[in-house]
Parts: sequence; structure tokens; C-alpha cells
Amino acid sequence: MKLLLSTNNKGKLRELQAILADMPIELLAPADLGLTLDVDEDGSTYAENAAKKAIAFARASGLTCLADDSGLEVDALNGAPGLYSARYSPKPGATDSDRRAFLLQNLRAANASRPWTARFRATVAVAGPEGNVEWAEGICEGQIIPEERGTGGFGYDPIFLLDGMDQTMAELPEEIKNRLSHRARAVEAARGILMRWNGL
Ligand code: IMP
Repeated sequence: MKLLLSTNNKGKLRELQAILADMPIELLAPADLGLTLDVDEDGSTYAENAAKKAIAFARASGLTCLADDSGLEVDALNGAPGLYSARYSPKPGATDSDRRAFLLQNLRAANASRPWTARFRATVAVAGPEGNVEWAEGICEGQIIPEERGTGGFGYDPIFLLDGMDQTMAELPEEIKNRLSHRARAVEAARGILMRWNGL
């Protein structure tokens, strides 16, 4: 079976290859097919956004496609930034570092007592060319800390301390993050869908 991923991000491709290595699946990136599609992530849930991407790529390629959408949910901010995690800053051209600073500023302004409990959530959608779609979810629980630690990963990793561990996501070696992450857990949960769709 061929499975198209809706991303050309090298890190995500490596992560997915490692998780699905033992399955009889050939993973393809849009670049392998010369496919470029711009899908608006304007849905009101992760599931909606993931499905939009997976269906668009599945229809365009005629292949089964897997797409993900994810975000960070901070309890003291009523689940923000959530769906807006990638755009969470008033600053034009904001960087990941600006978004982390904005999050910490909002937590301090909210006078929230610690621990600042939070979770990363990822939803994976698997879609076929006829528009059929199924979902799986992965969650990674932890807390936001006030000072950045570590240089790995991306996004909110330097201020996200994993439950039951002394390290932030940015302090973990890539291969460990790729096993524990919300995305890894969602893809792991999607294995059953892929096996069923392949009659395995
Ligand atoms: P997307 O699902 O790749 O669009 O990610 C949405 C946004 O959520 C990213 O831009 C990051 O800000 C945040 N995010 C998602 N996954 C992670 C992660 O593993 N570490 C840090 N931030 C993440």
C-alpha cells in the first residue's frame, strides 16, 4: 500500500517513517508526486482541519492520505492557544519565540497559580480518494514552565515540561520526543485504521 502524507516537513516525515516502519506501507510526500496544494486550515476543530488536508491530498493523488493537525491547550487560559497555536501572537511576522513569550505574558497576567497544566493534542485523519475519512487522536500531558529550557524541537517545546519527566520537550533527544509526542501517539492509534483499510 502507498500512503501519501500531507506534509513535506522533513522532521514529520522522519517521525512517521520510524513509527510505521514495521508496516507494509510505502510512505510518500507531496513533493515525491510533484503535488502542491494549499489547504486553508479554517476548520473549528483539529479533526476538521486534518480531514480537509487529508481529503484534498487524497482526491488530488488518488491515494490514501494521512494528515495531522495539532496544538497546545493551557488550562489556565481556558484551552488557548489551541487551534490558534501556530498564529498565537499579535506581532506581525511573529516567531516561535514571540509566541512562547506571548503565552507566558498571558499566564502571568491571568495570575494563574502553578503548575500551569497543559497538553499537546494531535488529531490524525486518514482519507481515501472518494472522501471517506477516519480519525485518531494522541495527547501528551504536561505543564508550562516560566523559563525556556533546551534547544531541540520547535514551537512551544522549550516551555513544555512532560508529566513524569524532568525534561522539557526541547531537552529530549529527537528519537525520544518522536516516541512520546502527541503526534506519535495519534499515528500509533491510526495503525488500526491503516491495517483495516489494507485488509491486514
Ligand atoms: P501543526 O499541526 O503542525 O499546524 O501545528 C500547530 C502548532 O502547534 C505549531 O505551529 C506549534 O506552535 C504547535 N505545536 C504542535 N506540535 C508541537 C510540538 O510537538 N511541539 C511544540 N509545538 C507544537
